[in-house]
Amino acid sequence: MATASTLCIIGSSNTDMVVRAEHLPAPGETVMGGTFLMNPGGKGANQAVAAARLGGQVQFVTKVGNDLFGRQAIEQFQREKIDTTYVLVDPDLPSGVALINVDARGENCIAVAPGANASLQAADVAPALAELPASALVLLQLEIPLDTVAAAIRQSHAQNLRVVLNPAPAQVLPPDLLQGLYLITPNETEAELLTGLPVRDEASARRAAEWLRQQGVDNVIITLGARGVYLLTNDVSRMISAPAVQAVDTTAAGDCFNGALVVALSEQLPLDEAAAFACRAAAISVTRLGAQASMPQRQEVDQVPF
Ligand code: ADP
Repeated sequence: MATASTLCIIGSSNTDMVVRAEHLPAPGETVMGGTFLMNPGGKGANQAVAAARLGGQVQFVTKVGNDLFGRQAIEQFQREKIDTTYVLVDPDLPSGVALINVDARGENCIAVAPGANASLQAADVAPALAELPASALVLLQLEIPLDTVAAAIRQSHAQNLRVVLNPAPAQVLPPDLLQGLYLITPNETEAELLTGLPVRDEASARRAAEWLRQQGVDNVIITLGARGVYLLTNDVSRMISAPAVQAVDTTAAGDCFNGALVVALSEQLPLDEAAAFACRAAAISVTRLGAQASMPQRQEVDQVPF
C-alpha cells in the first residue's frame, strides 16, 4: 500500500434523538409509550467516522456548541482517531440536533436545528486548508452554509488540492461551484436535482454524468442504491455493482460510501477500484442498524470477496 495522504473532511456534526412510538404525533398531540435512542450523526461526522475506521488519516473540520452534545461528539471523534484540531466550539449556539419520530411502520418525521453547524464560516475553515500538504484530498457535503462550501472549494483549488463534493442533502447548486471539482458523488435524487435530468438506470445516469462533466467536473460517480454506482471519467464509463446483501437499514449508506471512497483515493487507488472498495464498505453498512454504528472496520471490508 502506498503512503496514504491526509483527508480533510469539512461538514456537519449532529446528535440524532430518535423516539419510536406507535404513531407519529399530530399537531398538539402527545404520544406516550415510545422508546428513545440518541445517536451521533450529521453527514460530515458520519463520513469522517467511516473514513477513520477504514484507516484514513482524517482531519475533521466542523463546529459544535459549548454543551454536553458538543463535548460528547469531540470525545467520540477522538476515540475514532480523528484529528480534532479543527473541531471548533461556538461559544453561543447549541450543537446541531435532529429530532426524529419513527412510527411502527418505519415512517418518520424529522426536525433539524443546525445550531453551531450554521456558524461554520469560511474563516474557520481557511486555516485548516492552509496547513494541508499538496497531496491531501478535501471532502465536503452540503449541511453547512453554502458560502462556506464555496469558499473552501475556491481555496482548495488555489492550493491545487483535489476536492470531492458529496452534494447532499439534495439542492440546486450555482454552476460555478462545480467548476474544477475533482469528483462529485450524487445519489439519484441529488443527480436529478443538480442536472434537471431524470436518473433511473445506467443510460440516464450517463446522461446526467455527462452534463456534470460539461460543467467542469473532472469525474462523476452517481450512487444507485443496491445496484451500485455509475462512474464516468475521461476514459471510463461503466457501472460498478454493489455486493448483494440483505439490507436492514440503509441510513448513511451514502456517507459510508463517500468516507470509504476518499480513503481508497488517499491510498492512490484508481477511481474504479476506489469505487468498488466503497461499494463493499457501504454494502456492509446496510446490513447493520444505525449511522455511525454501522460503519465497518478495514479488516471487514478487505475480507469481502471481489
Ligand atoms: P444514499 O444513501 O445517499 O441515498 P444510495 O442509496 O445510492 O445513497 O447508497 C449509496 C451506496 O451504498 C450505493 O451506491 C451502494 O454502493 C450502497 N448501497 C445502498 N443500498 C444498498 C443495498 N441495499 N445493498 C448493497 N449496497 C447498497
